[in-house]
Amino acid sequence: MTELINHFIGGEHVAPSSGEYIPSTNPATLDKLYEFARGNKADVDRAVQSAKTTFESSAWKRTTATQRGHLLRRLADLVGENTEELARNETLDNGKLLREMVGQLKTLPEYLYYYAGLADKVQGSQIPTNSLDIINFTQREPLGVVGAITPWNSPLTLTVSKLAPALAAGNTIVIKPSEYTTRNIVRLAELAYEAGFPAGAVNVVSGTGAEAGAPLVDHPDIAKISFTGSTATGSAIGASAGARFIGCTLELGGKSPNIVFEDADVSNAAMGVVAGIFAAAGQTCIAGSRVFAHRSVYDELLARVSERAATIKIGDPLEQSTELGPLAFESQLEKVRSYIDIGVGEGATVYSGGNRPEIDLPGYFLEPTVLTGTTNDMRVCREEIFGPVAAVMPFDTEEEVLRLANDTTYGLAAGVWTSNLQRAMRMSQGLQAGTVWINMYRAMSPQSPRQGFKTSGVGIEHGLESMNEYTKLKSVWINT
Ligand code: NAD
Repeated sequence: MTELINHFIGGEHVAPSSGEYIPSTNPATLDKLYEFARGNKADVDRAVQSAKTTFESSAWKRTTATQRGHLLRRLADLVGENTEELARNETLDNGKLLREMVGQLKTLPEYLYYYAGLADKVQGSQIPTNSLDIINFTQREPLGVVGAITPWNSPLTLTVSKLAPALAAGNTIVIKPSEYTTRNIVRLAELAYEAGFPAGAVNVVSGTGAEAGAPLVDHPDIAKISFTGSTATGSAIGASAGARFIGCTLELGGKSPNIVFEDADVSNAAMGVVAGIFAAAGQTCIAGSRVFAHRSVYDELLARVSERAATIKIGDPLEQSTELGPLAFESQLEKVRSYIDIGVGEGATVYSGGNRPEIDLPGYFLEPTVLTGTTNDMRVCREEIFGPVAAVMPFDTEEEVLRLANDTTYGLAAGVWTSNLQRAMRMSQGLQAGTVWINMYRAMSPQSPRQGFKTSGVGIEHGLESMNEYTKLKSVWINT
């Protein structure tokens, strides 16, 4: 009997009003995992109404910021106690390595503790006036019901990055998880309820983007949309939110450059390039998919990267020794393969990889792939592939590589490998990207704000600044 996963609304598991469910598949084995509720507008209406009722209830309004912090701490503890189960769920759903997921999810409570600590630090200020009889002060208020829409590649971390500040600031939330990773987000809502958040504070409606996501975005009682996903979807969501004058935070795609200068430790840089593009089979927004190497170290870097790529152990992501799992679903694999063909059609060479590996599992596997002979104007260097495909290109001067790195519509992240501090500073100032890593790649923490430049996003996640995304500022004047 297939397990059915229902919506989580008002503290209860709620069957979809359509009565329909969508199957979920393990991308490594192609085994059926479970079926999740196929949400629609009626389900979204019910969830938003539940979140609105809770937001307006006197019980939630009387909950102090300190108490909300305690609830988030309790949730953090529960997430910590369930790390193994949550990590396994994530691996089964999207094919990411279990050992990496355990590592990533061990840090997840830190995100919740961070926002628990910020809950009672949301404050206004007193503003000087030109009369002693008049007092002017500001206060920060919650927005209301926040709609959160999240992708499949790091579902829990990306959802917690929205849920934690939203709840800390006193909002309630309706989450529409990716249709490829429903289980853990419903589990997160269950844990929030178990932690003591009232029924209706955290709701989940599962289903597809068109059927459940769009009605959430368009719902008149949603005060804000917080979205992580592709730039194309983000553009449509931003347009809808803009037309209704509600706020939105958009964390979108990338085509990040990873730049290796001649004065870098090339061995370290090669490991950083490999991790930058092949971790999670390249299915990360910050993937360093455009690799620029100074011509004097180009051959050495290319050899090191492709040699390491060729020895990456591909297999079952549940196995401790596996280094690369499958892509998350079939059309994702087809899309990535089609980009390799597009690159070859444009004149690129598959220097290494590019094929299905010879392994026993039937899933959506692809070898880590290195393309050479690419130029920055080719589609493989302009469009987000979201797979284990690196284009490695030579450059001659710092000015040239800065221009090439910035010659993209995206602006999410960038990596620079150099031993020259002045160059590191020049590059970090010149790169048009919300995050710049020097001699490292992929670091992220709840304390450090991140923002996509250009078409990579709008608004800030993480850090002190992110709390402002979930509050509105009121200015109060009193004539004493
Ligand atoms: P996607 O845009 O296809 O889907 C994201 C979410 O939006 C899913 O829940 C989907 O069901 C929903 N959705 C789709 N169409 C919708 C619509 N019309 N209205 C409302 N909701 C809709 O993205 P994806 O394939 O799930 O994720 C991969 C993308 O996410 C990549 O582009 C990646 O770069 C990006 N991403 C960005 C970050 C970041 O922090 N910047 C992090 C992770 C992933």
